Amino acid sequence: MSYHVNEKGYYGQFGGAFIPEMLYPNIEELRQNYLKVMAEPDFKKEFDQLLKDYVGRPTPLYFAKRMSKKYNTKIYLKREDLCHTGAHKINNTIGQILMAKHLKKTRIIAETGAGQHGVATATVCALAGLECIVYMGEIDIARQAPNVARMKMLGAEVRPALSGSRTLKDATNEAIRDWINNPVDTHYIIGSAVGPHPYPDMVARFQSVVSEETKWQLKKVEGRENPDYIVACVGGGSNAAGAYYHYLNELEVKLIAVEAAGKGIYTGESAATSVLGKEGVIHGSKTLLMQTNDGQITEPYSISAGLDYPGVGPMHAHLYETKRAEFISVTDDDAMTAGLELSQLEGIIPAIETSHALAIFEHKEFKPQDVVVISLSGRGDKDLSTYIEYFKL
Ligand SMILES: *Cc1c(COP(=O)(O)O)cnc(C)c1O
Repeated sequence: MSYHVNEKGYYGQFGGAFIPEMLYPNIEELRQNYLKVMAEPDFKKEFDQLLKDYVGRPTPLYFAKRMSKKYNTKIYLKREDLCHTGAHKINNTIGQILMAKHLKKTRIIAETGAGQHGVATATVCALAGLECIVYMGEIDIARQAPNVARMKMLGAEVRPALSGSRTLKDATNEAIRDWINNPVDTHYIIGSAVGPHPYPDMVARFQSVVSEETKWQLKKVEGRENPDYIVACVGGGSNAAGAYYHYLNELEVKLIAVEAAGKGIYTGESAATSVLGKEGVIHGSKTLLMQTNDGQITEPYSISAGLDYPGVGPMHAHLYETKRAEFISVTDDDAMTAGLELSQLEGIIPAIETSHALAIFEHKEFKPQDVVVISLSGRGDKDLSTYIEYFKL
């Protein structure tokens, strides 16, 4: 059983490239080049250098002493929250901006929902001196004013998507339309392990630095590279893909994926794709997708903007289907409580997405000698107003 993508762009039955004919040349150019470019010594050198000096890698693998004591197991936090811009997303955007440069692209487009990926993209465009256009639903622009301001300050143009529900799905449609109209000079930076092949694999590879570091860091402190468990929250699946990547074929390492149950899996306000999803096509790939009986995509809900996605990347759909990963869903309330707890036990305020992963300890028992690595995907600064409102701080 392979958990990596195959020649045709599939993870088991999931993946592929379901795209409009007019996008075919763009995707094909990327598919034919991405592995070659990533293997070039110049590319690797520049990528590693930027991850080190610009992003601030390696990120620490921190033994959470007080939390470990409370749950009577060994908890390590992989500190992606300490990355430049505050989350793991920058690992991918750095990789893709270098990919764009190697493919001689001069113009970058992206779509964003909550704005986190938009900010990470605007950041690397400033770094590389490339034009940056970020599509964002008109509703999201109003809801996410600070991130819109960040993108503008970084020199990006934020273009409102005015059609449909004026949220992420509509922004994605606008970005795809743009790419079809500008196939020669433009690269489309996708922000999670989603989209048509080769995006999920490319994004997973750029994020795989996380598990590459975890291996040697754990070896140093525990005398072994492999933890017993790796836990990550899953929106589209990029931080989880990075945290799992070098462990996918190490079957004694148990993988746990935490999804957002929102107000409860069966309340109609949820984003628990593995439970509620059925096979379907979203953003150009065949995967698990929340949809109505006649195939209309269902609006997802989560208190965390980054997990509020109706699908999941094809790698994760396959990990679910093959039971390689255990999927657990966590409600808004449980996540918020876990976020407050980490703040007060360890002095780390996590992103609300990450708080979902942290809630695992209220859902599952671990043994005292178990080594549990949590992907601390991002920091909570961006979520402060939500925490304030929720806890009446
Ligand atoms: C965007 C985001 C996520 C969810 O995206 P994945 O691609 O599933 O990782 C999780 N945590 C943080 C902090 C995020 O910003």
